[in-house]
Amino acid sequence: MDNVFETLESEVRSYCRGFPAVFERAKGHLLWDEQGKRYVDFFGGAGALNYGHNNDRLKRRLLEYIEQDGITHSLDMASTSKRTFLERFDRVILQPRGLSYKIQFPGPTGTNAVESAMKLARKVTGRETIIGFTNGYHGMTIGALAVTGNNFKRSGAGIPLGNAVSMPYDGYLGDEADTIDYLEKTLEDQGSGLDLPAAMIVETVQGEGGINVASMEWLQRLEALCRRWEILLILDDIQAGCGRTGTFFSFEPAGIKPDMVCLSKSIGGYGLPMALVLIRPELDVWEPGEHNGTFRGNNLAFVTGAEALAYWEDDSFAREIRRKGEKIREGFDRLVADFPKIFEQARGRGMMQGLVCHDPDEASRICAEAFRNGLLLETAGGDDEVIKCLAPLTIDDAGIEEGLETLRRSVEAVASDTDSDDARVA
Ligand code: PMP
Repeated sequence: MDNVFETLESEVRSYCRGFPAVFERAKGHLLWDEQGKRYVDFFGGAGALNYGHNNDRLKRRLLEYIEQDGITHSLDMASTSKRTFLERFDRVILQPRGLSYKIQFPGPTGTNAVESAMKLARKVTGRETIIGFTNGYHGMTIGALAVTGNNFKRSGAGIPLGNAVSMPYDGYLGDEADTIDYLEKTLEDQGSGLDLPAAMIVETVQGEGGINVASMEWLQRLEALCRRWEILLILDDIQAGCGRTGTFFSFEPAGIKPDMVCLSKSIGGYGLPMALVLIRPELDVWEPGEHNGTFRGNNLAFVTGAEALAYWEDDSFAREIRRKGEKIREGFDRLVADFPKIFEQARGRGMMQGLVCHDPDEASRICAEAFRNGLLLETAGGDDEVIKCLAPLTIDDAGIEEGLETLRRSVEAVASDTDSDDARVA
C-alpha cells in the first residue's frame, strides 16, 4: 500500500486499517481499488450511501446543477436548491406521515445535529441533564460524547463528560428485567439521585453499539414516560433513518412522535455532508444566529438530497427494503445455524442487520477475511463483537447473494482455522 497515508496522515485514521486498499472508483454497491480489484459493499459508507455510490439519478441532477453554476455554498442564505429540498421534504416525508416539524440545518455532520438538539432541549427546559442509553452512539464532539456509551471514545475527550446520565437500553439487563420500569422508578423516586432531565436521546436500533434493536413497545413506553415527566424526546435517526430499517424514519412502526429528530448520513443522498434537526414547532425558540456554522448550506447536498426523496414518493422502495432486509436476514440466520460455535445470533431491522459473534476476535478475523475476498463489512458493539451489514438500499438481489456467499466463504475459512487451532491445543 502507498505509504503516503502512513507517513502523512494522522494515526487517528481508522477505516483504512480495516480496509487496507486505495479505492479509486465506485458504482452502486461495488467499489474498485487502484489494482482493479472489485469489492461488494456491505458497509455503505457507514450508512451515508443508502442510495449507492454515484447513483445515476442523483448524479445527473448534480451534474446539471453544477453545469448551470448553481449556488454551491450559501451559509444559511436562501437558495433555490434549499427551497426545493425543504418543500419536497415537507411534501414527500413529513405531511404524509402527519408530522409537523421546523427544520434546522445545524452543520454538516451527525454530531452537529446532536449538539444542536441537546442545546435546544436545555434552552427550552432550563434543565441540564440529558439521558443517553447504554451502548448509544451520538458522535465525537463533547456534548454528543457525553451521551455516548463507548469508554474508549469517551476517554478521547480528555475532560470529564458531564450533564448526562446513562440508562439501560432495551434488553441491556437481559430478557427478564424491564428497563423502562427501572427508568420510571428512578424518575419517580426522590432518592434515586437522578435530576429531572431536559431530554432523552435514543436510537431505535443502535448502529455503532452493535445492532441492538429496541422493541416498538419499549419505544412507546419511553415516549409516554417523556410526556408524563415533560422530558423532551430526541430521536437520533442518523444511522437508522433515511429508510435503513424499512421505513423512512425508523420510529414510524412505533407510532411515536419525537420532539426532535436528528438526521444526517444519507439525508444528502450522494454521500455529501448534510444534517438536519427536526424540531416540534413550539420548541423552536432559537434566537437568530444562536447556533451558527459556516457549512450549513451545502447546496450540492440539497440538490441530491431533494432528488433522493423521489424514492419515497410511493411505498415501493420501502417494500423493497423490507424484502431485501429479509433476504439478508435469512442468509444471516443460516450462518448462525451452520456455525453455532462462532455466532450467537443474528439481529436487526430492515437492511440494518448484525451477526453477533461469541468471540470478538473472530468477528474481526471474519471481516478481514471478507475484505481479502472482496467484501466490505465492519464490526460494531462495545467489544466489536458484531458483524454489521449496511449494504446500500439500492443493492440488487444478485449483489446480496454475492455478498452473502463471500461472507460464508470467509466464515468457513475462519472456522477451519479455529478448528485446526483447537486440534493443535488438544
Ligand atoms: N448518531 C448516530 C446514531 C451515528 O451512527 C453517528 C455516526 N456513526 C452519529 C450520530 C455521528 O455522526 P457523524 O459521524 O456524522 O458526526
